[in-house]
Amino acid sequence: MSWKERIGGRIGALLLLVCLLAPLPAAAVRHRGTANSGQTTVRTRLHSSKNAPPPVVEPLVPDFSAWSGGLVLYDPAKDTAPREGIPVEETGFFFTGPLFLRPVTRGIVIHHVGVPAGDTSAERIHWAHISNGWNGIGYHYVIRQDGTIERGRPLPTVGAHAYAFNESTVGICLSGSFEWEFPSYAQLESLTELLVSLCRIYGLKPNADTITGHRDMNFDTACPGRNLYPMLPSLLEEVSSLLREGSPER
Ligand SMILES: [Zn+2]
Repeated sequence: MSWKERIGGRIGALLLLVCLLAPLPAAAVRHRGTANSGQTTVRTRLHSSKNAPPPVVEPLVPDFSAWSGGLVLYDPAKDTAPREGIPVEETGFFFTGPLFLRPVTRGIVIHHVGVPAGDTSAERIHWAHISNGWNGIGYHYVIRQDGTIERGRPLPTVGAHAYAFNESTVGICLSGSFEWEFPSYAQLESLTELLVSLCRIYGLKPNADTITGHRDMNFDTACPGRNLYPMLPSLLEEVSSLLREGSPER
């Protein structure tokens, strides 16, 4: 049984969160769904999927850890997450509810924000998610269009970005909407560096099971967009090559 299957049926608490359902200004965009959507064009917010689930999961109820199978509460004072070894802009976000330690890391999920012609910051996403009733930003990283990597949720914690896979994956979100646009060279460069770093930290071998687009995990979303998604195989090759070379530099 694959890791996807093992965790696929788990009722994780943060499972209802399909990327950004955030009420950012002008965030409502028309976007073609995938899978069952056929030719239907749906109105949604940002790049959230058709028939997106109710955007209310967090803040977590006090007894959630017991209900969810014993997730351990995250204590920032005891955060011993290894450094990425590349520049990451710290954001120091305040989260409105408890965060929990991710029990295992089996993969990395790549997202886009879904707002065209927008360089959305991690802070903007953070507040949008709070206004959505969540603890705060659901991604672990946001990569801006100039290549700056911003921290979202603390790396060791359970994210809120991929339904049914939050307890075993790290979420990276690139600013932009790659249904219509293309990621910048700087974004792709930073993404590659970050993937190399995370593969090293978690001992992941880059392949289609460990580095995925959101649409691979949740079939009712087009995220990370039809222009970025086809780049993933070549991205994996580049990450694999850099890991083999053992060089942190590009
Ligand atoms: Zn996504």
